[in-house]
Amino acid sequence: MDSRTVRWEELLPREFRARQDQMPLVYLPLGLCEPHGHIAAFGLDTFKAVWLCEQAASRFGGIVAPTQGYQIHETGYHRPWLKEVIGDTNPNLGSVPPDVLLRMLLFQLRAFVNAGFRGAVLLTGHHGNQADLRIVAEELMTLRPIRIVTVSDPELARVAFHGDHAGKYEISQLLFIRPDLVDLDRAGDISTSPLGRFAQGEDASEATAGYGREILEHSLEQLERLIRDSLPFEDAIDPLGIEETDEIWQSILARRGEWRTLSERNPDLAREA
Ligand SMILES: [Zn+2]
Repeated sequence: MDSRTVRWEELLPREFRARQDQMPLVYLPLGLCEPHGHIAAFGLDTFKAVWLCEQAASRFGGIVAPTQGYQIHETGYHRPWLKEVIGDTNPNLGSVPPDVLLRMLLFQLRAFVNAGFRGAVLLTGHHGNQADLRIVAEELMTLRPIRIVTVSDPELARVAFHGDHAGKYEISQLLFIRPDLVDLDRAGDISTSPLGRFAQGEDASEATAGYGREILEHSLEQLERLIRDSLPFEDAIDPLGIEETDEIWQSILARRGEWRTLSERNPDLAREA
């Protein structure tokens, strides 16, 4: 599986085909710019998702699609959470409403099918939205036999590690992936800064790169298991037209009552990232 890079946007056509022939699997890392306390960069969720996808593609095969730092926030259960951990301060969020993100995701999946992929991993570093991402994946899979694994990083780490928001769990991972984006010396700013807590986790100061590495390696093992479980892929999948994709969108809209991101309660959210 030798090529300089696993990233779709960096691959030359011959390298892309060679990687895809070996493993027709695409990874979509989904991130979000949101507050992670005074000690960590806004893009923490994105860096986790990208790292896991790039490592998985390097180790197990496949190609990583371009990521995005925008995701669903501010609606449903997100709203009281923001009020609680941010207050009236500007959260500097990369937030979009559910219908915008889910429709975009549907057309991203269409692009993957039409580019020749027969398996996809949707990996969100922003925990809580994955149930809605799964609705999009499910509805597309009723019309095309692509195998789609949809998962959040705390779901991968679960059992061995408990997810959090900007606490020891998340900050440790960023410390391992991008130590230059963490400044633990600023942990005390929660009591002096006009920004207040800024969504910082209570045990953030206990973060270590070693603990982050343990979480990430465990998560990769779980991801490999999910990928292996989704094999074998179909030999070929018919391309999806725009009109047909719009029909899938209507089915997704018809399930709007199930969208967790519009609901005041989210059973997936137990103070995890
Ligand atoms: Zn996070």
